[in-house]
Amino acid sequence: MLCPKHPQESLLTGQMVEGLKAHQCPTCNGSWVTAEDYQTWQLSHADPSRTINSLTVPINRDVDYQPSRYDNRAGLCPNCGFYLVRERINLQKIAFFIERCPGCRGIWCDDGEWAVLDQLGLSAYVPVLFTDEWHSYVRNAEAEFRERTATAEKLGSEISEKLFELAKLLEEHPNGDFGVAYLMRRFEQ
Ligand SMILES: [Zn+2]
Ligand SMILES: [Zn+2]
Repeated sequence: MLCPKHPQESLLTGQMVEGLKAHQCPTCNGSWVTAEDYQTWQLSHADPSRTINSLTVPINRDVDYQPSRYDNRAGLCPNCGFYLVRERINLQKIAFFIERCPGCRGIWCDDGEWAVLDQLGLSAYVPVLFTDEWHSYVRNAEAEFRERTATAEKLGSEISEKLFELAKLLEEHPNGDFGVAYLMRRFEQ
């Protein structure tokens, strides 16, 4: 198998973590994991009762990580030659891509990417990251994060925390709309 980022380099057999076989490039330190190897490892590492909504959205995470300089390079699957599909992972200050083959579903991580996914608690849920459901969950969480950040900038952290808490209480209360109407009346005057 050849490296997706260095087609002149053969991948060497190693491991991603204990119990997960990987094929690694000696030049870029990227790793290829076959779908079969990943699924076997995933069985004992993913919690089947976890829903998408309980996974971490990385947007507000400040992870100490410098993306590999090969991260932006498109690559071909070392197994079947398809172009790898890139999935953008947005962190607070940086973003990087993990890649997956649309044919054989093998996964490519550039140097260091697996460690970040692991830190975020996402390494056992990689296939989820390529779904529409995840994309819309992330979009909503990112919009909410931006809105909260902007609100905290205007009101200060103390008042904004109280506001978020109140909003949540009203949202969960069966007569919460009375509270919202009260606030609106106060501001109409
Ligand atoms: Zn390489
Ligand atoms: Zn493939």
